[in-house]
Amino acid sequence: MTYLDYNSTTPVDTRVLAEMLPYFTEHFGNASSHTHAFGWYANGAIDKARDQVAHFIGAETSEIIFTSGSTESINMALKGTFEAYHTKGNHIITCKTEHKAVLDTCAYLEEKGATITYLDVDREGRIDVDEINNSFTEKTILVCVMAANNETGVLQDIEKIAQITHQNEALFMSDTTQLAGKLPIDVNEMGIDICCLSAHKLYGPKGAGALYVRRKNPRVNLIPLFHGGKHEFGKRSGTLNAAGIVGLGKACEIAAQEFWDTNMYISKLRGFIEHQLLEIPELLINGSTRYRLYNTSNLYFPPLKDGSTVFSHIKTKYAVSLGSACTSANAEPSHVLIAMGLSKEESENCIRFSFGKQNTMEEIQILVTLILSFYNLK
Ligand code: PLP
Repeated sequence: MTYLDYNSTTPVDTRVLAEMLPYFTEHFGNASSHTHAFGWYANGAIDKARDQVAHFIGAETSEIIFTSGSTESINMALKGTFEAYHTKGNHIITCKTEHKAVLDTCAYLEEKGATITYLDVDREGRIDVDEINNSFTEKTILVCVMAANNETGVLQDIEKIAQITHQNEALFMSDTTQLAGKLPIDVNEMGIDICCLSAHKLYGPKGAGALYVRRKNPRVNLIPLFHGGKHEFGKRSGTLNAAGIVGLGKACEIAAQEFWDTNMYISKLRGFIEHQLLEIPELLINGSTRYRLYNTSNLYFPPLKDGSTVFSHIKTKYAVSLGSACTSANAEPSHVLIAMGLSKEESENCIRFSFGKQNTMEEIQILVTLILSFYNLK
């Protein structure tokens, strides 16, 4: 079976694995054991990983908090700022196409007294920046807009949104989970105050991630979710997952060195498949073709008259996603495609292909032939 679901998760790069393995066995120490060399060694590895992650996004090491991944980072950021800034206000602006980690946390905060504005997107999946401008109130504490969408790859104008947010004296948070490892991130250039990373999206291990929290201009205050031990600058207590963190650090280092080459290679695969499949009458590319991650292709395939679908034709040979794999626990149609104006039926006939560095042109050629043959086109 060929894996074309890299936005869902990625295999661990063998170089990342090699770096991690000793931290399960000979270097098993607890990074907060300050009285002996086992602890010092693990702590040294954590420091190195913190440097790698900070460097990867243009941050200071003291601004990186290790977590279990983006869901935790997002929960911590949204709940933590809501609590920390409650005397200033209770209003958060976000977008309808955010990941469920954001949307479900916002729904929870609404129960706790937050007012949330959910921005619309256009047919291309993009936010109208003027709509943001009109959404601020004097109670707005935070704007949370993802950099790249996991289902469509659509990119938002993060710099501009950050600028407007700061003009309105609120904090700007961006879910950068899908951007990381695919395009460069510089928190200062982009004007990001809070963002998150997840190692398993960039050829690192599952269960390791980070939260970036700006320390100055402005200094962001967060009330922690976990208490007990005051690890991670008192922001996230709990014994650190040294092997996972080492893996995250190495994955960031490799991505920073290699992403331009990977970028070029993968964009050729995506360009090829879309170009070939556009032969299918009524095929649609979901999302902006201009502002989009180079590895993601979310396509609407018209079903045949007898109701059969491309997905049922390819699913035993290709691992792809219908809607978002991250939320596949619920069978609802994709909230992202619905927000972009597709009908429920249309969204059920959309497939997300997300390519990665281990895919080959041959695999993609075979897939194209398989899909075209479904429509009797080749
Ligand atoms: N945000 C986005 C955009 C994602 O694609 C994912 C992936 O599932 C998450 C958040 C959650 O990340 P994690 O799996 O690290 O909890």
